[in-house]
This record gives sequence, structure tokens and C-alpha cells, in this order.
Amino acid sequence: MRHFAIVGSGPAGFYTAEALAKAFGERARIDIIDRYPVPYGLIRFGVAPDHQSLKAVSKRYDKVAETEGVRFVGNVAVGSDVLVDELIQLYDAVVLATGAPNDRKLGIPGEDLPGVVGSAAFVGWYNGHPDFADLDPPLDGTHVAVVGNGNVALDCARILAKTAHEFEGSDIVGHALAALEKAATRTITILGRRGPHQIAMTPKELGELGHLEAASPVVDAADFPPLEADESLEPGHRKSIAILREFAATPPGSTKPKRMVFDFFAKPLWIEGDGKAETIIVERTELDPDGRAVGTGETYAVPASLVISAIGYSTPPMPGVPYDERHGHFLNDHGQIADRLYCVGWARRGPTGTIGTNRPDGYEVAEQIAAAMPVGSGAGKPGGAGLDSLLAERVIQSTSFDDWRTIEKAEEAQARPSSPREKFVHADDWMKVLGRTR
Ligand code: NAP
Repeated sequence: MRHFAIVGSGPAGFYTAEALAKAFGERARIDIIDRYPVPYGLIRFGVAPDHQSLKAVSKRYDKVAETEGVRFVGNVAVGSDVLVDELIQLYDAVVLATGAPNDRKLGIPGEDLPGVVGSAAFVGWYNGHPDFADLDPPLDGTHVAVVGNGNVALDCARILAKTAHEFEGSDIVGHALAALEKAATRTITILGRRGPHQIAMTPKELGELGHLEAASPVVDAADFPPLEADESLEPGHRKSIAILREFAATPPGSTKPKRMVFDFFAKPLWIEGDGKAETIIVERTELDPDGRAVGTGETYAVPASLVISAIGYSTPPMPGVPYDERHGHFLNDHGQIADRLYCVGWARRGPTGTIGTNRPDGYEVAEQIAAAMPVGSGAGKPGGAGLDSLLAERVIQSTSFDDWRTIEKAEEAQARPSSPREKFVHADDWMKVLGRTR
């Protein structure tokens, strides 16, 4: 028998479990460990609540969790409750699938003012992440700025722009829905330090902005290179640029109350305000021959009482695990960190790609593990039984997949009409449903 621990129950963790279960069959015992009592990581806490079709991938993960030999072990924080070194003693191999939940910093003055939040915090707030349930972002101002030109910036802008009616069918948490309904937001400025051709937004997500009930996108045609320049772009990206060009060609004068203004070639310099964010000062940029943004010296002020920086994420370091500071993920060679220690997903390669990109990652690492542990070899590790003893010694109450099913039912039972669930947003509430305390 081979015993595997996967740390993190988001997409990367589940695809790795699926791959290990396939590679080792009945010879595998796989524990998927998560710091939260509930599974799915990014699917639950990151994917936008109005993108339920993307969240449906969790059904596939359910099948993995219910596979013979696979366990979900929730409510166990690896790095504090249990150390990676301890897991290595207990299991034949340990795979870190801890994602990239930390916001990258803008690194500009004023970033710590109240009213400046990272996208992980803002997304966590509307998605019911326990760390951000009490974020209470200031929504009483008319102007919001979102820094970044990726899909997360689009998610944040879209959520700010939608009406309560447009959230029907979503699982946005009640506190966020109530706050957004009362919000005074009228202008959402999406700041890109480079131009339209350099966006990291995908067509489907960009296209949604053209169909919002109460908001219209505003794009300046003068920001684009000549149309012929689009021909050299990869087809998917060309589609995104075509959508932006359509937005730019739409005559102004929309009667919709909210505007989503794409401000390209605008590099944030600092954020200022009287004890809280009021204005973000940006510098007009142009592209150098290598496509990098270079300041022109021209600066201007963009009003914003809420500034959301959506400029990428990093993986939190873990005690005793080599870390690549520059790229913000674990130091690894094709997923291998050290003997019997691996990483997958964003913890391996940084926060890029779609949910599906994690699948080949997981399968590749599972293949490496299988190659290192041929049939017949075996170290006789204690695996899950050893972990359970350690947790019992430390009085840590883990949660099982059945426990999650109990929580899931309770979340479904308290859902608003038309919503699939109303999530519990405080860590204690999950345990209360199970009749336990942490
Ligand atoms: P991203 O795609 O890497 O975009 C980050 C953006 O931040 C880029 O536009 C980047 O501009 C900008 N940026 C970085 N540092 C900056 C700075 N100091 N000042 C100003 N701008 C800065 O990251 P993301 O949006 O966080 O998305 C992460 C991954 O999740 C992506 O692969 C994304 O596609 C995926 N995702 C997908 C969906 C979906 O499919 N619906 C939804 C959300 C996220 P430069 O290009 O100039 O560096």
C-alpha cells in the first residue's frame, strides 16, 4: 500500500488525487488535507459567484472524493497544526496544492490606506471566505478603481456593476449582495499599465460587459494600434481585442447609470486621501520596443474611494519548504521540490491559466510519483492512521467528506430563492453545523 497526502483541496489538489488514484488503483490511500472544513479551494472562494457553470466542475471532484481509498481531511492547517516534515514521515509522498491565495502588493505609497484592498480580499469578501467576511469595503463613494487588466480585474468590476436581479442564480453571499445593492458606485475605472493588445482578459469574460443591465463599458478608440496589427495576434486574444474595439465603436450616451471605463497606458504611482483612499495618481505610459510600459512623465488623478488591486497572486511560504521569492511559489523542478515532496497548480507555476490547466499538472506529478515507486516497492508508512493519531494528540478535530455534505445541505437549506446556496462565512459556523467547536 502507498500513502499520499495532498495539501489543498482546490482544482490542483483534486486533479492530483484523481491521477494518483488512477495510477495506483487499489494500492493507494490518498488524504486530501485542507485548512478549511469545506473543500474546493479556488472553486468555492475564487471563481465568481455569477459563474456557476465554472463552479460545476466540483461535481467531478466529488467523484474523486468518493473514490475508494480517497479521504477528505478538512480543518487541518498544514504548516501550523501539522508540519510538512511530519507529513513526509507519515506518507510515501506529499503534494502541495496550496494555490496562490495571497495578493501581490502594488508597492506604491498609499497602498495601506483604508479603502485600498487586494483582489483576493475583495473576491473573498463576496465569495464568503472566512478571512475576508468582515472586509466591509467602502462602497459609499461614486468612484472605484480596479488596477490590472486580467480576468480577476474583470470579475471585480463586473460584480461591482451588476444589479441584484443579475445576481439571481448566483451564490454571492448575502452580506455582499446587500452592500452592493446599497452601493453608490457609478464609475469603475479599470487601470491597465499597458495597452489594449497587452490585456490578459479572455473573450467570454470581456464580452459579458457588453450585456450588463445597468453598466456600459467605455473604451477610447485612440488607445488602439491600427486594425492590421490585430492580425498577428493569437486567435483567442484577437477576439478579445475585437470585443474591446466594439466597445470603443459604441456611441456614447448610454442611459445606463454605471460606466466601466478602461483607462489604458495608466501606471499607478501613489494613492492619496485624507485618512482613506480618495484618489489614485497615475502616470501615462507608452510601450518600449520590448512591450514594457515606460512612464511619459504626464500624471493625472483618478478619483476612487475604493481601490482594488487585481495584479496577481502568490503562494504563501511553508515552514521548511524551499521557496522562489521572485516568482512567489515553491522552488521546484517540474513539480518536484525534494525527495517525496512535490507541488502542483499555482503553488508550482504561479497564478496563470484556467482551472483545467491544473489537470495536466496533477497528472504529470502523479506519473513522476508512480515512476519513483514501482509496484512491489513500499516503505510501510503509516499514512492516514498516523495523521489521525497526531491530530488526536493535538486535539484537532478534522472534518470528513460526509461532514462537508452535512454543511453543504445546511448551506442549500438556507439559500435565497434562486440561489444554489447561502454559504456560512465564519469558520465557527461550519463547525457549529457539525455540533462541534474548533
Ligand atoms: P493576470 O492574468 O496575470 O493579470 C494581472 C494583470 O495585472 C495584468 O494585466 C498585469 O499587467 C497587471 N499588473 C501586474 N502588476 C502590475 C502593477 N504593478 N501595476 C499595474 N498593473 C499590474 O492575473 P489575474 O487577473 O489575477 O488572473 C489569474 C489567473 O486566473 C489568470 O490565468 C486568469 O485568466 C485566471 N482567471 C480566469 C477567470 C475566468 O476564466 N473566468 C477568472 C478569473 C481569473 P502586465 O501585463 O502589464 O504585467
